[in-house]
Amino acid sequence: MRCTPMQLTDTHCHLDYHKFNVDRAEVLQRAADAGVMRMLVPGLHHRSSADAVHLAESNPRVYAAVGFHPTDMKEFTPRTFEKVKDLARHPKVVAIGEIGLDYYWVKDAEERAIQRERLLEQLALAKEVNKPVVLHMREENDAWFGEASTHLLEILREWQSSLQGNLKENPGVLHSFNGTLETAQQALSLNFYIGITGPVTYPNAEKKREVVQQLPLDRILIETDAPFLTPVPHRGKRNEPAYIRHIADKIAEIHSKSPAEIADQTAQNAARLFAWGD
Ligand SMILES: [Zn+2]
Repeated sequence: MRCTPMQLTDTHCHLDYHKFNVDRAEVLQRAADAGVMRMLVPGLHHRSSADAVHLAESNPRVYAAVGFHPTDMKEFTPRTFEKVKDLARHPKVVAIGEIGLDYYWVKDAEERAIQRERLLEQLALAKEVNKPVVLHMREENDAWFGEASTHLLEILREWQSSLQGNLKENPGVLHSFNGTLETAQQALSLNFYIGITGPVTYPNAEKKREVVQQLPLDRILIETDAPFLTPVPHRGKRNEPAYIRHIADKIAEIHSKSPAEIADQTAQNAARLFAWGD
């Protein structure tokens, strides 16, 4: 017997990624069958941003974000940034991302400084087109706290204080959050949302679940980050948006709510942030 599926969102899935080239249509069909009503595909650089926009144009459930990921800074040139700026105005582009700081893969101080400069330029673009940001933050050695958190919060504090109106109320999301409760609280005080991914389902993730337990439900988003970060019970396989249900289930368990309540609440949060209506 099949029940009516819950209405879910997956606000971070890399459906343009080559790992989906063989069966993208089936992946999208499985997402629809699982009740995934809205998916956000973030760009990693100009080509992937253009691919995300094409996917959004060809599927009513898919929306795009455009930008340069901090580990793809070699792709960022005046010419490619112009391309992304053009894409940023597309009606199905609902955010600028995936942008941010990655001190895990990038150890060189000068390259980290370049990441911060490019982040500032892309935040300026978000302000210009009046769209929120999807932020990537990864610490050296995957620590819970360090320079990436400190630098990112400094940059976001200044940027958010320069905003007005709805964008100031809903400036963006810290995607796949992997920081301390204190970092989350500082981001929340700047009106940012917190994105939760598959690792919250991992057996050894007690500390992460303790953080999630403290987060206000009206600021949580659920994300697969497909094809990465596959949740239990599919861990070890390629991730896909249909698996978002397992993240909703885990948050429901942590917050003593029903999965349907978490699905509804996170769908409302995503609609508030990305202004994609219902
Ligand atoms: Zn991502």
